[in-house]
Amino acid sequence: MGAMHTRLETLDRPYERMAAFYSERAAGEAGLIVSGGFAPSPEGVMEPGGPIFNSAKQIADHRMVTRAVHEHGGRIVLQILHAGQYARVPSCVAPSAGMSRINAFSPQVLDTVQVRSTIEDFARTAELAVGAGYDGVEIMGSEGYLINEFTAERTNRRVDEFGGSFEGRLLFPLEVIRAVRARLGRAPLLIYRISAIDLVEGGMTGDEIATFAGWVEAAGADLISTGMGWHEAAIPTIAATVPRGVWRDAVRNVKRAVGIPVVASNRINTPHDAEDFVATGTADLVSMARPLLADPEVARKIRLGISDEINTCIACNQACLDAIFTRRTASCMVNPRAGHELEFPKIKLTHRAKRIAVVGGGPAGMAYAVNAAERGHDVTLFEGERQLGGQINLAKSVPGKAEFAEMLRYFEVRLRKLGVILHLGEFATLTQLLEGRFDNIVLATGVIPRIPAIRGIDHGKVLSYRDVLTGKEVAGQQVAIIGAGGIGFDVAEFLVGDPAQSLDADSFFSYWGVDRTNRRKGGVSAAAIRKASRRSVHMFQRSAEPFGQRLGKSTGWILKTKLRRENVTMTAGVTYDAIDDEGLHYRVGDEPHVLQVDHVVLCAGQESNRGLYAELLTHGLRPQLIGGAAAAGELDAVRAIDEATRMALAM
Ligand code: NAP
Ligand code: SF4
Repeated sequence: MGAMHTRLETLDRPYERMAAFYSERAAGEAGLIVSGGFAPSPEGVMEPGGPIFNSAKQIADHRMVTRAVHEHGGRIVLQILHAGQYARVPSCVAPSAGMSRINAFSPQVLDTVQVRSTIEDFARTAELAVGAGYDGVEIMGSEGYLINEFTAERTNRRVDEFGGSFEGRLLFPLEVIRAVRARLGRAPLLIYRISAIDLVEGGMTGDEIATFAGWVEAAGADLISTGMGWHEAAIPTIAATVPRGVWRDAVRNVKRAVGIPVVASNRINTPHDAEDFVATGTADLVSMARPLLADPEVARKIRLGISDEINTCIACNQACLDAIFTRRTASCMVNPRAGHELEFPKIKLTHRAKRIAVVGGGPAGMAYAVNAAERGHDVTLFEGERQLGGQINLAKSVPGKAEFAEMLRYFEVRLRKLGVILHLGEFATLTQLLEGRFDNIVLATGVIPRIPAIRGIDHGKVLSYRDVLTGKEVAGQQVAIIGAGGIGFDVAEFLVGDPAQSLDADSFFSYWGVDRTNRRKGGVSAAAIRKASRRSVHMFQRSAEPFGQRLGKSTGWILKTKLRRENVTMTAGVTYDAIDDEGLHYRVGDEPHVLQVDHVVLCAGQESNRGLYAELLTHGLRPQLIGGAAAAGELDAVRAIDEATRMALAM
């Protein structure tokens, strides 16, 4: 399990939480766990109050974690992460002057004495870690943090021995490794996380990285783990828009250069891809971080030959990274227990099995049905469409969101194996629900698209987002989109995007300007010039707020970059007047406009679909509403699955 920042330290009982979180992954048979990063000194923390391990007084806390992992048969190493110029604290430091574009604080430049004392900080934290029972440490040298900043010309313009030449720039990481090794002795594991491709101008070339990897081995590392891209890189590295396993060339480049085992990571979320990395000799080990949030039992399920039951990480980032970036703690869309192990009950068999009808087979309905059936209830699920999935079926048709199909596969397999009775293509009728003698009726009937009150809304050129995403032909070239929430953006991407960019390595590299040979510095080349867009798409919203404000922090920039490159226009602060043969009539302030368009796609949010609810109430039944049927506002799959899971477990 690769290192991942969880922000569990911001909650009460942080070490108990970490113990519960990691020990569950150890029980799931992750061979080796790398903790989230702990800073070796106050100026190296990720944010105020961020994790730091620099005092013997903290050993007892960490013992709680290491003991819990060991009791479950696991091994855990502590990642030592000095955030350098990315530390969101006024005291942040860097090898040379200059601010990162992703931090509001300007770093102070470390002088030579301070560099030496920072090396000592790493060694001391490593010693403390082993004293607390960790099986070793990982030194975080990638992703643009302090060590990476020393290795790259763009951030290291020093004139002392820690800069000035290739060798000088690499002295800091090598001294850190040597100091940690000297302090730990031979036995504890020492992992170095190398930046296998920087993806920023002025980063290292592939040849330089290979040479450096050899020196890392000689300096005393036991394993080299590979990281991809600096956090400020303008190239996505782990979002779902990145093809699976796309960074294999960068990993192979490191592997060829060393004799010690090399760990692959980033966009490896299935056993098949993991196996491929090892079987082809690209890497010796595979590290998964988010996939182990999604399913702590990935390894156990692979061993048992039930990989089809893995709750696969769909790389959405919605409940993990986006939560972290908005100062919440990490959890997981498909596994709401992740990070909440202490307060979220584990599945317990019920003493009194009930007959339960779940109406609606979208994320909320499926999550409820699976969890209720796991508790031993007798569950029947009705879905009006011929296939399960609800809104997931729309999401997975959007370029870059094909991973949603894995979520659907997981639920389908679990529902089948748990013996849930499925009525597909059947809208549950009042008679069925009355005669079924159900103890509980759960309405997960989801949402219906909102139809805004605009003159001409029933004009032939008006389509709903459902029409578009389910494949209704959008024959014309000029398209207006009303509404710019998550679905408005998805529809725009559907209309202009190229699905190949998230499925095929060559398309991805050429679109984003990655030099896959990594001969150029940082592995960046000029982004490919796109062919003329397939369509002219124009997005509108009534509010004056910046477009895409509510998109996920970790993925919104990707979507906005793509739409900008496809010349999608975005007009805020509009009032819609009418839709007619001429097109869309709207005003900005008092100024009237008409946009000649072939289609107007409505993405104006949703309303709860509760038709059946009122009918059941009038017959004396007390159905429970969940997901979009309960509240449509701000609904996404994270909330739908979370609420449904909690309700099924609490029932
Ligand atoms: P949404 O985010 O609430 O956006 C609805 C849009 O419709 C807004 O832009 C709103 O903007 C506009 N609107 C609302 N009422 C309107 C009216 N009466 N007339 C005209 N325009 C109106 O809803 P959504 O886009 O349908 O998405 C639903 C949920 O799925 C959201 O919670 C969203 O976060 C989630 N989702 C997330 C992603 C993702 O990538 N993370 C992708 C898809 C969906 P104005 O009021 O300013 O016009
Ligand atoms: Fe993966 Fe999404 Fe869960 Fe994050 S929230 S671990 S990206 S499935």
